[in-house]
Amino acid sequence: MSVPSPRRVVLLGSTGSIGTQTLDVIARLGPERAIVVGLAARKNEVLLTEQARRFGVTAAFLTERDGGDVLTTLVAMEGADTVVIAVAGAAALAATLTAVRLGKRVCIATKEVLVAAGDLVVREARENGAEILPIDSEHSAIFQCVQGYARQDIARLHITASGGPFRPWPLEKIERATVDEALNHPTWRMGGKISIDSATLMNKGLEVIEACHLFGIDIDAVSVVVHPQSVIHSFVEMRDGSLLAQLGLPDMRLPIQIALLHPEKVDTDLPRLCPTKIATLTFEEPDEARFPAIRLARQAFKAGGTAPAVLNAANEEAVGLFLAGKIHFGDICRRVAQALDAFAPGPADSLETVLAADSWARNFVSQTTGS
Ligand code: MG
Repeated sequence: MSVPSPRRVVLLGSTGSIGTQTLDVIARLGPERAIVVGLAARKNEVLLTEQARRFGVTAAFLTERDGGDVLTTLVAMEGADTVVIAVAGAAALAATLTAVRLGKRVCIATKEVLVAAGDLVVREARENGAEILPIDSEHSAIFQCVQGYARQDIARLHITASGGPFRPWPLEKIERATVDEALNHPTWRMGGKISIDSATLMNKGLEVIEACHLFGIDIDAVSVVVHPQSVIHSFVEMRDGSLLAQLGLPDMRLPIQIALLHPEKVDTDLPRLCPTKIATLTFEEPDEARFPAIRLARQAFKAGGTAPAVLNAANEEAVGLFLAGKIHFGDICRRVAQALDAFAPGPADSLETVLAADSWARNFVSQTTGS
């Protein structure tokens, strides 16, 4: 059997949580499977320099020093066939669009890109023969379960959620939760923004939208199920009633490896989930009274056009204000709801229209006072 040539990878966001884990996966795979050809980080020069030396990469940039355009330059490198998107913000959107237009494999950890501009990114990917593979445990699970089936064979997706650190808390206590309490995720160790999104459940709202784009499914056929043990990473319900699931440890390195190498399977020495060690699996409905984020995400997706870009940007801005100690935890979703109510969405048919909605939402949220 012929061995595929190695993936030639550009990694955007190499010093963050997903970035460092991606390099760990690539180091484990070895150069016959994956080679790093470009790296970008925001500002951590010491770590970026060390990564570039370790992987023999000459194209390594810091966006704070070299400008955001370096991301697009790296993505467009002729020697690169695979792009890992693990950077925050609008720069990720421009880089993703460039990658799909060039027909590259895009392994996407920045779900915000698909939330804000999913229609545009998916359409461009289809027209240019680009593959989009999720680096998100739930979507990786769904992706694995649906292999070999046609879209019409799938009846529903059930996205699992840990429920975050405030799952058992009363509403009044959630309202005034501190930053440290919100960052204390029960099952996953992640970056700051996604940890806060997990505490509000906005992460799950964003993931519902992400799933609609990745799998071409109607939002009313995507539900969320709270599963505090984070063992089952999602379910796919087939039209004949069969319920498929993927199980694993809370470790992003396997979804990363799958996104890089699909459909190739290779041995890995990553820790494995042993069935006899699974003690108890529990499931419950999310409580939308205490956690309105999933409802807000559905509202934005159904409003369509640039409304999901407003949801995403308003949330990002509100999370920033919360992390800076300027608003209460309960204000995050309140600000997002206010932004959605005040916004009249237009078509999200270009990078410019999406970015305009994005900056409208950021201004709106930062200028709103009180709660
Ligand atoms: Mg996830």
